[in-house]
Amino acid sequence: MWRFDQGRIEYFQFDELRKIAKFAVSNDLKSVSHGPLVSATGLPFLPADASYPPWRNYSRVFRTAMLVAKIGDVAAPTRVAELLAQDGVVTSDDYYHFFAQAFTAPAPSFQEWEPTDQPRPLLFTLKFLLARSVIGEPIVPIREIVGAYDMSGFVGDEDQSAYVALAKKQWSSSADHRQARESIQVIGQLSYLSASSTAVIVSLDDEDALDVFESLQAIRGQQETNSEREIMRVAGLFESAVSDLEIDFSKTVYDETVEAGFTEGTRVEKTHIVLERNSAIRKAFFASNPTATCDFCDRDTQSEFPWSDRVLDIHHVLPLCSGTRSDKSGTILGDLVAVCPTCHRAVHGFYTKWLKANGMKDFADAAEARAAYDEAKSQRNDV
Ligand SMILES: [Zn+2]
Ligand SMILES: [Zn+2]
Repeated sequence: MWRFDQGRIEYFQFDELRKIAKFAVSNDLKSVSHGPLVSATGLPFLPADASYPPWRNYSRVFRTAMLVAKIGDVAAPTRVAELLAQDGVVTSDDYYHFFAQAFTAPAPSFQEWEPTDQPRPLLFTLKFLLARSVIGEPIVPIREIVGAYDMSGFVGDEDQSAYVALAKKQWSSSADHRQARESIQVIGQLSYLSASSTAVIVSLDDEDALDVFESLQAIRGQQETNSEREIMRVAGLFESAVSDLEIDFSKTVYDETVEAGFTEGTRVEKTHIVLERNSAIRKAFFASNPTATCDFCDRDTQSEFPWSDRVLDIHHVLPLCSGTRSDKSGTILGDLVAVCPTCHRAVHGFYTKWLKANGMKDFADAAEARAAYDEAKSQRNDV
């Protein structure tokens, strides 16, 4: 049984989770009323009724995302919330890899949970996607993932050769399993994936896909019998799990990160570069915005270089550590702008200086990242 919080995708967006986490570390989400939570996060938390506490409708979102657990009569923040609340410490890749490895069916945030070893459909999903990519089929319909999970009896622990064999077979699911689909879209925020409501595309070369595959493993340990304590325990394993997870694909982008204008090539910066190099996102962006003009300097790269369609990079304007956002229909391309390689490098150089001057490792939110981009733009001189 693959249960998830239906219709709540926007609350599972990485930058939104960070806002909720920031609120949760210094306020009690269990007793908070509608107004303060909405003004702190900008999220709707409907119904907008002062007498209707958000906890009634959203406690499962908070607990499934592993931000809080109900301990005593308060929503106690987990270690995951404490880390997400800090800027530039956790990347979207760290978080969603952990989420996929820890998520069980059912999760401890669901009533049906019991303290036994449960299957891991999102770990299954990631491994299935990586295996499909390795056999040369990187565009994977969500119905096939759900069908393969339902029919194979796999639980997520199986090894690479088992997944490659599985990926070579045809699978389908006739029913649209909405909760499964939405949870898959949530992990579609990983920098090397892009998700629509019907398919997920993997943008990794084979070697990197195999490296990521090999570093994935179920988050286990001695279970608590109480589900709230179990949420707290699993979230407490975040740091050790992230340090064990060697995402080698981020090593291969080190040079590109420095090349792009970042001076150090931190994990946060690498996640940003992997996302910007995501070929599926790039294709989708230019398919719906067939521009050749740099958003930053206005040069028309098609007129300038008439033998090419364009000479432009994709720049992602959310905080550096954020993944792709998606809504019900798919990846949100509005978080992206097309800039020429020179401007792109200059923008990242500006970010490095701006963050250093403000003593920060990353932008607090999308608005701050957008403002820094606009500030860089206003300081640029025509020559
Ligand atoms: Zn430019
Ligand atoms: Zn960029």
